Amino acid sequence: MILMQKNIAVIRGDGIGPEIVEQALLAFDKIGELYGHTFTYTDVDMGGIAIDKWGDPLPTDMLEKCVNADSVLLGAVGGPKWNDVPGDKRPEKGLLRLRAGMGVYSNNRPAKIWPQLADASPLKASIVAKGIDFIIVRELIGGIYFGSHTTEEVNGEKNAVDVLQYSESEIERIGRIGFETARKRSGKLCSVEKSNVLDSSRLWKAVMHRLSAEYPDVELSDMLVDNCAMQIVKDPSQFDVVVTENMFGDILSDEASMITGSIGMIPSSSLGASSNGLYEPIHGSAPDIAGMDMANPIGTILSAAMMLRFSFDMPAEADCIERAVSAVLDAGYRTADIYSDGCKKIGCAEMGQRILENMRKE
Ligand code: NAD
Repeated sequence: MILMQKNIAVIRGDGIGPEIVEQALLAFDKIGELYGHTFTYTDVDMGGIAIDKWGDPLPTDMLEKCVNADSVLLGAVGGPKWNDVPGDKRPEKGLLRLRAGMGVYSNNRPAKIWPQLADASPLKASIVAKGIDFIIVRELIGGIYFGSHTTEEVNGEKNAVDVLQYSESEIERIGRIGFETARKRSGKLCSVEKSNVLDSSRLWKAVMHRLSAEYPDVELSDMLVDNCAMQIVKDPSQFDVVVTENMFGDILSDEASMITGSIGMIPSSSLGASSNGLYEPIHGSAPDIAGMDMANPIGTILSAAMMLRFSFDMPAEADCIERAVSAVLDAGYRTADIYSDGCKKIGCAEMGQRILENMRKE
């Protein structure tokens, strides 16, 4: 066995961020103990806490710590305290700058239902029974979120413009991630766009079809984004890998997370050309439950497992964490967000502790 040493930049962030990240770090320590690896942690301030301390949601030296780490673990940023700060100083701006600064152009979000939590899905049991297990590959550092944004006075009234722009090379690199991901799964890729209206979507579709000649083993299909939003609730079992642009992916991946039952359960990875990735749960800083030991840490702990699998090439170690999560759910332990009658309600720290106790090397 190769023993590895990895440095992780840790962004605890705001709200429930520090509580959930703490549990993920304990899981890394336990993996270190079981498998002989050494994990070291570099603390990074980002979001509201960085605004309070440094007057900037992501100071340059903090971004550098992330770029120089082996990977980055993020809790969540933002909260009502910073709602009124100017646009370029908002906590979320730190996140956009982090993604762009790390060059992570591909966001991968699994939408998977845990059989133990099937009742928590808002969909009918007959739909859930067909299975929900797909991934949304979302372009992360282009499109309308990164185009210019202007608000000007025109003819006596305010006029706002947001620019949506994609180059062929930007589409191609995310397209390749989609095809490669599909190749590792069932070989089905659904490209989602709005080519009946948008030029950027027509280019998107053309590039996907050009690439498809290089991946004859992957079956490519196209779907308009409005139809995709409907199909995700009508029959999510039809999807395996979905690839789409930034804003469509933002919206569809929230919809996909909702049908799996709890936003607190879902991890994500964002990767670019290097193995240094950004790993975070998909939810926000949940200010309504911050500091109350009520947060579900599983999305963050599973993000740690994704880091082991995708950035550190440690699949056995990732499996170890995922098995432990499944065992704790099997035993009926639930945080408040996934609680149902007959289960045992526990807090964030106890959930983390029970997962640690179930981590075993196979
Ligand atoms: P949110 O995801 O923080 O919370 C939505 C609801 O889900 C809340 O009721 C919350 O209590 C619950 N929830 C979320 N995560 C949970 C968990 N782990 N366990 C149990 N319950 C959980 O979304 P919001 O309320 O719209 O946003 C709050 C703040 O977070 C805002 O400032 C927003 O900008 C920010 N935000 C940050 C990120 C990020 O850091 N990546 C993402 C989304 C939102």
